[in-house]
Amino acid sequence: MTETDEDLAASRERLVEQLRRRHDLSERTLAAIGSVPRHEFVPADRQSAAYADRPLPIGHDQTISAPHMVAIMVDLIEVAEGDRVLEVGTGCGYHAAVVAEIVGPGNVYTVEYVPDLADDARDRLDRLGYDVNVRAGDGREGYPDGAPFDAAYLTCAAPEGVPDPIIEQVREGGQIVAPVGGGISQRLVRLTVEADGVDREEHGGVRFVPMQ
Ligand code: SAH
Repeated sequence: MTETDEDLAASRERLVEQLRRRHDLSERTLAAIGSVPRHEFVPADRQSAAYADRPLPIGHDQTISAPHMVAIMVDLIEVAEGDRVLEVGTGCGYHAAVVAEIVGPGNVYTVEYVPDLADDARDRLDRLGYDVNVRAGDGREGYPDGAPFDAAYLTCAAPEGVPDPIIEQVREGGQIVAPVGGGISQRLVRLTVEADGVDREEHGGVRFVPMQ
């Protein structure tokens, strides 16, 4: 059975209500989640599961994170309209679209390792009206053409910590959120870039695909 636009919008609103009840999230982030049509980012045979709070496969052995994880990471980078943001790991482009809802057109720069995923995400974001800069390549190098950034985040786990080029492309005072560590011992960390290094906070155990 195909769901109507009304069904999908109602499911999305229920997801937002569930996230509001279960997690301590800003209204700005909840509004962004409520605006992005997640069903457009998942494979056609998964559309009916698009508004369940869980990860879904997106091909090439990769997954789109669960909505609560996207929302928590969006809150942690503390961005506002007009801020420039670096994402490493575009995947299907969903997380980038949620951030673009907050920072506005042209302000999200995202790097994806798998060229086919980068191409598909670029086309999808464009079709849905999101002006996001998508580059195929190794996110360890960041996105030099878009720097400096007000914030950055990784959607794949960095076993040995956030690579230096990414830290160097974020302005002083900016935040970097990333899953760090290998296997089952990944932690979600938030770095604040300072003049003489970074300040590091931990935000619990997480499970992300490893950086290629
Ligand atoms: N934010 C994505 C989640 C993608 S999963 C979404 O909303 O769909 C993590 C992604 O990181 C995968 O697409 C994977 O191919 C990508 N990735 C892994 N290693 C990478 C690297 N070194 N540079 C850029 N992207 C990488």
